[in-house]
Amino acid sequence: MIYRPIGNTGMSASIIGLGTEHLDNRPYEVCEEVIDAALEQGINIFDVFMPGTEVRNNISKALKGRRDKVLIQGHIGSVDIREQYDRTRDVPTCRKYFENLLRSFKTDYIDLGMMFFIDTEEDFKGVFETEYISYVQKLKEEGKIRAIGASSHNPEMAARIVETGTIELLMFSTNLAYDMVHTDIYDPGTINDNLNNLAFKGIDPKRDYLYKLCDSKGVAITTMKTLGAGKLLSSDFSPFSQPLTVGQCIHYALTRPAVVSTLIGCQTREEVLEAVNYLNLTDEEKDYSQAIKNHRGTLDSKCMYCNHCLPCPSQINIASITRLLDIAALDENNIPSKIKKEYSLSPHKASECIACGQCEARCPFNVKIIENMEEAARLFE
Ligand code: SF4
Ligand code: SF4
Repeated sequence: MIYRPIGNTGMSASIIGLGTEHLDNRPYEVCEEVIDAALEQGINIFDVFMPGTEVRNNISKALKGRRDKVLIQGHIGSVDIREQYDRTRDVPTCRKYFENLLRSFKTDYIDLGMMFFIDTEEDFKGVFETEYISYVQKLKEEGKIRAIGASSHNPEMAARIVETGTIELLMFSTNLAYDMVHTDIYDPGTINDNLNNLAFKGIDPKRDYLYKLCDSKGVAITTMKTLGAGKLLSSDFSPFSQPLTVGQCIHYALTRPAVVSTLIGCQTREEVLEAVNYLNLTDEEKDYSQAIKNHRGTLDSKCMYCNHCLPCPSQINIASITRLLDIAALDENNIPSKIKKEYSLSPHKASECIACGQCEARCPFNVKIIENMEEAARLFE
Protein backbone atom coordinates (compact mmCIF):
# COMPACT_ATOMS: atom_id res chain seq x y z
CA MET A 1 0.00 0.00 0.00
CA ILE A 2 1.06 3.59 -0.54
CA TYR A 3 0.22 6.31 1.99
CA ARG A 4 -0.08 10.04 1.43
CA PRO A 5 0.01 12.74 4.12
CA ILE A 6 -3.32 14.41 4.86
CA GLY A 7 -2.23 18.03 4.55
CA ASN A 8 -0.60 19.24 7.75
CA THR A 9 -2.62 17.02 10.09
CA GLY A 10 0.23 14.62 10.81
CA MET A 11 -1.98 11.75 9.61
CA SER A 12 -1.38 9.71 6.46
CA ALA A 13 -4.04 7.88 4.49
CA SER A 14 -3.76 4.83 2.26
CA ILE A 15 -4.28 5.94 -1.34
CA ILE A 16 -7.13 3.45 -1.54
CA GLY A 17 -9.63 3.84 1.25
CA LEU A 18 -12.88 2.14 2.11
CA GLY A 19 -16.31 3.65 1.67
CA THR A 20 -18.60 1.71 3.99
CA GLU A 21 -22.02 2.69 2.64
CA HIS A 22 -22.54 -0.73 1.04
CA LEU A 23 -22.20 -2.36 4.45
CA ASP A 24 -25.40 -0.68 5.59
CA ASN A 25 -28.33 -3.05 6.04
CA ARG A 26 -26.05 -6.02 5.46
CA PRO A 27 -25.38 -8.94 7.83
CA TYR A 28 -22.45 -8.68 10.24
CA GLU A 29 -20.55 -11.41 8.34
CA VAL A 30 -20.37 -9.15 5.27
CA CYS A 31 -18.86 -6.34 7.36
CA GLU A 32 -16.35 -8.70 8.88
CA GLU A 33 -15.25 -10.03 5.49
CA VAL A 34 -14.78 -6.56 4.00
CA ILE A 35 -13.13 -4.98 7.05
CA ASP A 36 -10.72 -7.92 7.44
CA ALA A 37 -9.78 -7.75 3.75
CA ALA A 38 -9.28 -3.98 3.90
CA LEU A 39 -7.01 -4.14 6.92
CA GLU A 40 -5.04 -7.07 5.50
CA GLN A 41 -4.39 -4.95 2.38
CA GLY A 42 -3.13 -1.96 4.37
CA ILE A 43 -6.21 0.21 3.91
CA ASN A 44 -6.24 2.60 6.85
CA ILE A 45 -9.00 5.09 6.12
CA PHE A 46 -12.72 4.32 6.37
CA ASP A 47 -15.46 6.74 5.52
CA VAL A 48 -18.43 6.22 7.83
CA PHE A 49 -21.12 8.69 6.89
CA MET A 50 -24.06 6.44 7.71
CA PRO A 51 -26.01 7.53 10.77
CA GLY A 52 -27.47 4.11 11.66
CA THR A 53 -26.39 2.50 14.93
CA GLU A 54 -26.47 -1.06 13.61
CA VAL A 55 -24.00 -0.54 10.75
CA ARG A 56 -21.71 1.53 12.98
CA ASN A 57 -21.76 -1.25 15.58
CA ASN A 58 -21.09 -3.90 12.93
CA ILE A 59 -18.05 -2.06 11.56
CA SER A 60 -16.77 -1.46 15.08
CA LYS A 61 -17.21 -5.12 16.00
CA ALA A 62 -15.44 -6.22 12.81
CA LEU A 63 -12.46 -4.05 13.72
CA LYS A 64 -11.88 -6.44 16.65
CA GLY A 65 -9.71 -4.16 18.73
CA ARG A 66 -7.99 -2.63 15.68
CA ARG A 67 -9.57 0.82 16.06
CA ASP A 68 -6.09 2.38 16.27
CA LYS A 69 -5.18 0.92 12.86
CA VAL A 70 -7.71 3.05 10.98
CA LEU A 71 -8.54 6.68 10.43
CA ILE A 72 -12.27 7.10 10.76
CA GLN A 73 -13.73 9.79 8.55
CA GLY A 74 -16.94 10.47 10.47
CA HIS A 75 -19.63 12.96 9.54
CA ILE A 76 -21.25 15.58 11.77
CA GLY A 77 -24.88 16.25 10.92
CA SER A 78 -25.61 13.01 9.06
CA VAL A 79 -28.90 11.76 10.48
CA ASP A 80 -31.62 9.25 9.67
CA ILE A 81 -34.72 11.07 10.72
CA ARG A 82 -37.92 9.30 9.54
CA GLU A 83 -35.78 6.35 8.44
CA GLN A 84 -34.22 8.37 5.61
CA TYR A 85 -30.71 9.72 5.28
CA ASP A 86 -30.82 13.45 5.93
CA ARG A 87 -28.61 16.28 7.09
CA THR A 88 -29.08 18.67 9.96
CA ARG A 89 -27.19 21.61 11.48
CA ASP A 90 -29.15 21.49 14.73
CA VAL A 91 -26.45 21.18 17.38
CA PRO A 92 -28.29 18.96 19.91
CA THR A 93 -29.18 16.54 17.11
CA CYS A 94 -25.63 16.61 15.70
CA ARG A 95 -24.28 15.96 19.21
CA LYS A 96 -26.61 12.98 19.72
CA TYR A 97 -25.46 11.30 16.49
CA PHE A 98 -21.80 12.18 17.01
CA GLU A 99 -21.76 10.76 20.54
CA ASN A 100 -23.47 7.65 19.22
CA LEU A 101 -20.61 7.35 16.72
CA LEU A 102 -18.05 7.51 19.55
CA ARG A 103 -20.01 4.91 21.55
CA SER A 104 -20.42 2.61 18.56
CA PHE A 105 -16.69 2.63 17.89
CA LYS A 106 -15.87 2.39 21.63
CA THR A 107 -13.55 5.34 21.18
CA ASP A 108 -13.15 8.83 22.53
CA TYR A 109 -12.11 10.43 19.24
CA ILE A 110 -12.87 10.46 15.54
CA ASP A 111 -9.88 11.18 13.33
CA LEU A 112 -11.53 13.24 10.61
CA GLY A 113 -14.63 15.17 11.65
CA MET A 114 -16.46 16.02 8.47
CA MET A 115 -19.03 18.80 8.21
CA PHE A 116 -21.59 16.84 6.27
CA PHE A 117 -22.89 17.55 2.78
CA ILE A 118 -22.46 21.27 2.06
CA ASP A 119 -23.80 21.70 -1.46
CA THR A 120 -26.12 24.70 -1.39
CA GLU A 121 -26.21 28.26 -0.11
CA GLU A 122 -28.59 27.06 2.58
CA ASP A 123 -26.12 24.35 3.62
CA PHE A 124 -23.29 26.89 3.71
CA LYS A 125 -25.23 29.32 5.89
CA GLY A 126 -26.45 26.46 8.08
CA VAL A 127 -22.84 25.53 8.77
CA PHE A 128 -20.97 28.83 8.91
CA GLU A 129 -23.61 31.22 10.21
CA THR A 130 -24.97 29.16 13.10
CA GLU A 131 -23.74 27.50 16.28
CA TYR A 132 -22.89 24.41 14.21
CA ILE A 133 -19.40 25.65 13.27
CA SER A 134 -18.63 26.53 16.92
CA TYR A 135 -19.73 23.03 17.94
CA VAL A 136 -17.39 21.44 15.38
CA GLN A 137 -14.47 23.66 16.38
CA LYS A 138 -15.09 22.82 20.05
CA LEU A 139 -14.98 19.11 19.20
CA LYS A 140 -11.51 19.72 17.81
CA GLU A 141 -10.38 21.78 20.82
CA GLU A 142 -11.56 18.96 23.09
CA GLY A 143 -9.70 16.34 21.04
CA LYS A 144 -12.91 14.56 20.06
CA ILE A 145 -11.95 15.07 16.43
CA ARG A 146 -8.34 15.32 15.28
CA ALA A 147 -9.02 17.42 12.16
CA ILE A 148 -11.95 19.28 10.64
CA GLY A 149 -13.10 18.37 7.16
CA ALA A 150 -16.17 18.84 4.99
CA SER A 151 -17.96 16.94 2.28
CA SER A 152 -19.47 18.44 -0.85
CA HIS A 153 -20.50 17.56 -4.40
CA ASN A 154 -20.58 21.14 -5.61
CA PRO A 155 -17.26 22.63 -6.81
CA GLU A 156 -18.27 26.25 -6.23
CA MET A 157 -19.50 25.56 -2.72
CA ALA A 158 -16.50 23.36 -1.97
CA ALA A 159 -14.15 26.19 -3.04
CA ARG A 160 -16.01 28.58 -0.72
CA ILE A 161 -15.57 26.16 2.16
CA VAL A 162 -11.85 25.83 1.44
CA GLU A 163 -11.52 29.61 1.30
CA THR A 164 -12.94 29.96 4.84
CA GLY A 165 -9.69 28.38 6.06
CA THR A 166 -11.55 26.12 8.48
CA ILE A 167 -10.90 22.73 6.93
CA GLU A 168 -7.91 20.48 6.41
CA LEU A 169 -9.71 17.82 4.38
CA LEU A 170 -12.38 17.88 1.70
CA MET A 171 -14.37 14.86 0.62
CA PHE A 172 -15.42 15.52 -2.95
CA SER A 173 -17.15 13.61 -5.76
CA THR A 174 -14.54 13.05 -8.42
CA ASN A 175 -14.47 11.02 -11.60
CA LEU A 176 -13.68 11.57 -15.25
CA ALA A 177 -17.34 12.00 -16.24
CA TYR A 178 -18.11 14.58 -13.56
CA ASP A 179 -14.99 16.53 -14.43
CA MET A 180 -15.47 16.52 -18.20
CA VAL A 181 -19.07 17.62 -18.33
CA HIS A 182 -19.41 21.17 -17.18
CA THR A 183 -21.54 21.98 -14.18
CA ASP A 184 -23.52 24.57 -16.09
CA ILE A 185 -25.10 21.74 -18.07
CA TYR A 186 -24.84 18.96 -15.56
CA ASP A 187 -25.98 18.35 -12.00
CA PRO A 188 -22.74 17.62 -10.16
CA GLY A 189 -24.35 15.45 -7.49
CA THR A 190 -25.49 12.71 -9.84
CA ILE A 191 -24.51 10.81 -12.94
CA ASN A 192 -27.05 11.91 -15.45
CA ASP A 193 -28.56 9.13 -17.56
CA ASN A 194 -28.44 11.46 -20.53
CA LEU A 195 -24.67 11.75 -20.40
CA ASN A 196 -24.47 9.92 -23.70
CA ASN A 197 -25.99 12.94 -25.36
CA LEU A 198 -23.56 15.43 -23.91
CA ALA A 199 -20.36 16.74 -25.43
CA PHE A 200 -17.24 16.75 -23.32
CA LYS A 201 -15.54 20.11 -23.24
CA GLY A 202 -12.46 19.31 -21.21
CA ILE A 203 -12.23 19.69 -17.48
CA ASP A 204 -14.87 21.92 -15.94
CA PRO A 205 -13.08 25.16 -14.93
CA LYS A 206 -14.88 25.22 -11.57
CA ARG A 207 -13.69 21.74 -10.71
CA ASP A 208 -10.24 22.44 -12.13
CA TYR A 209 -10.00 25.52 -9.91
CA LEU A 210 -11.13 23.58 -6.85
CA TYR A 211 -8.39 20.95 -7.18
CA LYS A 212 -5.74 23.61 -7.62
CA LEU A 213 -7.09 25.71 -4.78
CA CYS A 214 -6.93 22.73 -2.41
CA ASP A 215 -3.41 21.92 -3.56
CA SER A 216 -2.24 25.51 -3.06
CA LYS A 217 -3.82 25.75 0.43
CA GLY A 218 -2.62 22.34 1.64
CA VAL A 219 -6.19 21.03 1.95
CA ALA A 220 -6.24 17.30 1.21
CA ILE A 221 -9.02 15.65 -0.79
CA THR A 222 -10.56 12.23 -0.35
CA THR A 223 -12.74 11.26 -3.28
CA MET A 224 -16.17 9.69 -3.41
CA LYS A 225 -18.15 8.52 -6.48
CA THR A 226 -14.86 7.39 -7.97
CA LEU A 227 -16.56 4.65 -10.00
CA GLY A 228 -19.66 6.77 -10.70
CA ALA A 229 -21.84 4.29 -8.78
CA GLY A 230 -20.47 1.59 -11.12
CA LYS A 231 -21.86 3.26 -14.23
CA LEU A 232 -18.44 4.18 -15.59
CA LEU A 233 -17.59 0.47 -15.63
CA SER A 234 -20.59 -0.49 -17.72
CA SER A 235 -20.70 -0.47 -21.51
CA ASP A 236 -24.40 0.37 -21.25
CA PHE A 237 -23.91 3.43 -19.07
CA SER A 238 -20.36 4.69 -19.65
CA PRO A 239 -20.52 8.07 -21.41
CA PHE A 240 -17.13 7.42 -22.99
CA SER A 241 -16.07 5.55 -26.08
CA GLN A 242 -15.48 2.53 -23.87
CA PRO A 243 -16.24 1.59 -20.27
CA LEU A 244 -13.51 2.42 -17.80
CA THR A 245 -11.90 -0.16 -15.55
CA VAL A 246 -11.76 0.10 -11.76
CA GLY A 247 -8.01 0.77 -12.08
CA GLN A 248 -8.52 3.61 -14.58
CA CYS A 249 -11.16 5.25 -12.37
CA ILE A 250 -8.90 5.02 -9.34
CA HIS A 251 -5.96 6.36 -11.32
CA TYR A 252 -7.97 9.32 -12.53
CA ALA A 253 -8.95 10.25 -8.98
CA LEU A 254 -5.46 9.77 -7.60
CA THR A 255 -3.91 11.97 -10.29
CA ARG A 256 -6.07 15.00 -9.40
CA PRO A 257 -4.11 17.63 -7.49
CA ALA A 258 -4.49 17.41 -3.66
CA VAL A 259 -6.14 13.98 -3.71
CA VAL A 260 -4.71 11.74 -1.00
CA SER A 261 -7.11 8.81 -1.04
CA THR A 262 -9.94 7.47 -3.13
CA LEU A 263 -12.68 5.83 -1.10
CA ILE A 264 -14.09 2.78 -2.82
CA GLY A 265 -17.37 1.30 -1.65
CA CYS A 266 -16.92 -2.47 -1.33
CA GLN A 267 -19.27 -5.20 -0.22
CA THR A 268 -17.09 -8.28 -0.75
CA ARG A 269 -13.49 -9.33 -0.18
CA GLU A 270 -13.10 -9.61 -3.98
CA GLU A 271 -14.10 -5.99 -4.47
CA VAL A 272 -11.50 -4.90 -1.92
CA LEU A 273 -8.85 -6.96 -3.73
CA GLU A 274 -9.90 -5.58 -7.12
CA ALA A 275 -9.50 -2.02 -5.84
CA VAL A 276 -6.13 -2.71 -4.24
CA ASN A 277 -4.95 -4.48 -7.40
CA TYR A 278 -4.53 -0.93 -8.74
CA LEU A 279 -1.10 -1.06 -7.13
CA ASN A 280 -0.09 -3.90 -9.49
CA LEU A 281 -1.23 -2.33 -12.76
CA THR A 282 1.10 -1.13 -15.49
CA ASP A 283 1.02 2.49 -16.62
CA GLU A 284 -0.77 1.33 -19.76
CA GLU A 285 -3.47 -0.44 -17.76
CA LYS A 286 -4.05 2.67 -15.64
CA ASP A 287 -4.22 5.08 -18.60
CA TYR A 288 -7.75 6.49 -18.84
CA SER A 289 -7.08 9.02 -21.59
CA GLN A 290 -7.95 6.71 -24.46
CA ALA A 291 -11.50 6.32 -23.17
CA ILE A 292 -12.35 9.76 -24.47
CA LYS A 293 -10.49 9.60 -27.75
CA ASN A 294 -13.76 9.49 -29.69
CA HIS A 295 -15.26 12.32 -27.68
CA ARG A 296 -17.84 14.72 -28.94
CA GLY A 297 -17.06 18.41 -28.58
CA THR A 298 -13.80 20.29 -28.46
CA LEU A 299 -11.52 19.70 -25.54
CA ASP A 300 -10.14 22.84 -24.00
CA SER A 301 -6.41 22.12 -23.91
CA LYS A 302 -6.21 21.75 -20.13
CA CYS A 303 -3.81 19.17 -18.77
CA MET A 304 -5.50 16.19 -17.11
CA TYR A 305 -2.21 14.90 -15.61
CA CYS A 306 -2.73 11.57 -17.34
CA ASN A 307 0.92 11.00 -18.33
CA HIS A 308 -0.09 9.84 -21.78
CA CYS A 309 2.49 12.21 -23.29
CA LEU A 310 5.48 10.32 -21.83
CA PRO A 311 8.23 9.35 -22.47
CA CYS A 312 10.05 12.63 -22.87
CA PRO A 313 13.61 12.44 -24.25
CA SER A 314 14.66 14.99 -21.60
CA GLN A 315 12.96 12.88 -18.91
CA ILE A 316 10.73 15.78 -17.86
CA ASN A 317 7.79 14.69 -15.74
CA ILE A 318 5.38 16.72 -17.87
CA ALA A 319 2.23 16.10 -15.79
CA SER A 320 3.95 16.98 -12.54
CA ILE A 321 5.54 20.17 -13.91
CA THR A 322 2.26 21.20 -15.53
CA ARG A 323 0.36 20.67 -12.26
CA LEU A 324 2.80 22.98 -10.46
CA LEU A 325 2.51 25.51 -13.27
CA ASP A 326 -1.29 25.42 -13.09
CA ILE A 327 -1.23 26.13 -9.36
CA ALA A 328 1.35 28.88 -9.76
CA ALA A 329 -0.80 30.47 -12.47
CA LEU A 330 -3.64 30.96 -9.95
CA ASP A 331 -1.62 33.88 -8.57
CA GLU A 332 1.77 34.41 -10.20
CA ASN A 333 2.74 37.01 -7.60
CA ASN A 334 2.04 34.73 -4.68
CA ILE A 335 3.21 31.24 -5.60
CA PRO A 336 2.93 28.99 -2.51
CA SER A 337 6.35 28.08 -1.13
CA LYS A 338 5.48 24.38 -1.08
CA ILE A 339 4.88 24.55 -4.85
CA LYS A 340 8.23 26.29 -5.44
CA LYS A 341 9.93 23.71 -3.25
CA GLU A 342 8.29 20.84 -5.11
CA TYR A 343 9.52 22.30 -8.38
CA SER A 344 13.03 22.72 -7.02
CA LEU A 345 13.03 18.99 -6.20
CA SER A 346 12.01 17.96 -9.74
CA PRO A 347 14.97 16.03 -11.14
CA HIS A 348 14.42 17.43 -14.65
CA LYS A 349 13.39 21.04 -15.09
CA ALA A 350 11.12 22.58 -17.72
CA SER A 351 14.08 24.42 -19.23
CA GLU A 352 15.44 21.05 -20.35
CA CYS A 353 12.65 20.86 -22.95
CA ILE A 354 14.14 20.65 -26.45
CA ALA A 355 10.79 21.37 -28.13
CA CYS A 356 10.83 18.07 -29.98
CA GLY A 357 7.02 17.95 -29.97
CA GLN A 358 6.77 14.20 -29.33
CA CYS A 359 4.63 14.79 -26.25
CA GLU A 360 2.16 17.07 -28.04
CA ALA A 361 1.62 14.43 -30.71
CA ARG A 362 0.66 11.95 -27.97
CA CYS A 363 -1.48 14.23 -25.81
CA PRO A 364 -5.19 13.39 -26.24
CA PHE A 365 -6.20 16.73 -24.71
CA ASN A 366 -4.41 19.05 -27.17
CA VAL A 367 -2.28 20.60 -24.45
CA LYS A 368 0.33 23.11 -25.61
CA ILE A 369 3.11 21.38 -23.71
CA ILE A 370 6.07 23.23 -25.21
CA GLU A 371 4.50 26.59 -24.31
CA ASN A 372 3.79 25.26 -20.83
CA MET A 373 7.40 24.22 -20.34
CA GLU A 374 8.56 27.68 -21.40
CA GLU A 375 6.13 29.25 -18.97
CA ALA A 376 7.17 26.92 -16.14
CA ALA A 377 10.82 27.79 -16.75
CA ARG A 378 9.96 31.49 -16.64
CA LEU A 379 8.01 31.22 -13.39
CA PHE A 380 10.14 28.77 -11.45
CA GLU A 381 13.72 29.07 -12.67
S1 SF4 B 1 0.06 17.11 -21.30
FE1 SF4 B 1 -1.60 15.86 -22.16
S2 SF4 B 1 -0.87 13.74 -22.14
FE2 SF4 B 1 0.50 14.95 -20.83
S3 SF4 B 1 -0.31 14.70 -18.78
FE3 SF4 B 1 -1.24 16.56 -19.61
S4 SF4 B 1 -3.14 15.89 -20.58
FE4 SF4 B 1 -1.93 14.06 -20.23
S1 SF4 C 1 8.62 18.80 -26.39
FE1 SF4 C 1 9.81 19.07 -24.51
S2 SF4 C 1 8.53 18.19 -22.92
FE2 SF4 C 1 7.75 17.42 -24.88
S3 SF4 C 1 8.77 15.44 -25.17
FE3 SF4 C 1 9.99 17.00 -26.21
S4 SF4 C 1 11.49 17.63 -24.68
FE4 SF4 C 1 9.91 16.55 -23.57
